[in-house]
Amino acid sequence: MTRRELLFDGNEKQVYATDDDKLVIFRFKDEITAYNNVKRAKLKDKGIITNAVSSLLFEYLKDRGVDTHFVERIGEREQLCRKICIIPLELIVRNRVAGTEAMRLGLPEGSEPASVILNLRYNNDTLGDPLINDTEACALGIATPADLKVVYSTGLRINTLLKDLFARAGIILADFKLEFGRASDGSIIVSDEISPDTSRLWDAQTLEKLDKDRFRLDLGDVADSYKKVYERLKAAVK
Ligand code: 5GP
Repeated sequence: MTRRELLFDGNEKQVYATDDDKLVIFRFKDEITAYNNVKRAKLKDKGIITNAVSSLLFEYLKDRGVDTHFVERIGEREQLCRKICIIPLELIVRNRVAGTEAMRLGLPEGSEPASVILNLRYNNDTLGDPLINDTEACALGIATPADLKVVYSTGLRINTLLKDLFARAGIILADFKLEFGRASDGSIIVSDEISPDTSRLWDAQTLEKLDKDRFRLDLGDVADSYKKVYERLKAAVK
């Protein structure tokens, strides 16, 4: 597959056109950013690890019938993906309370809610990705009630599958973010990435953080923790 012009240059990823107008190439950079891009750094080989983790997880989901934009990993930092029309929503799936949810509801970090929490966010950097409810998402023309049903049910299905995989890897899947897009046939599919950049992953024994919180909170060993996640997942999927 030939890589053609750069379509989008994001903080941590680039998207390139290909010679097939239904496919794009995602390229993972070594940049790491947090707090809406206020904090940023370069982390050697981070793009290689996030591509490896996200490819592994998307393959795992694909094998279990979840429709995503991922086609195949085509290089250390690159994956081939289906071209989608971005839906500007983020779905946050939470098995444990952490981050903004802990702050917003005044709950202790790590507490386990009685059921899975789903938050919908408007993906808008200028506004800082605010929470949005279903009526707002529909009123703004971002999604229909039927679209939201797919978004929520897909989020819960992915949570069930990934919680189990991470548990076998000795990791608690505390929370994660999903993004969605509309495929050429109109169906809603999962897009973007799932990696330690977009999730909270805690060692099941020690509760050590193995995700982007290591960067957000200056805990050090960011790349080593990401590598640990990849090695453990690789062993768990076998
Ligand atoms: P929180 O709402 O606690 O900040 O984030 C919840 C989960 O979603 C975390 O795993 C966090 O990494 C992920 N997440 C939320 N928004 C973003 C975002 O804009 N970028 C990335 N990379 N992850 C996000």
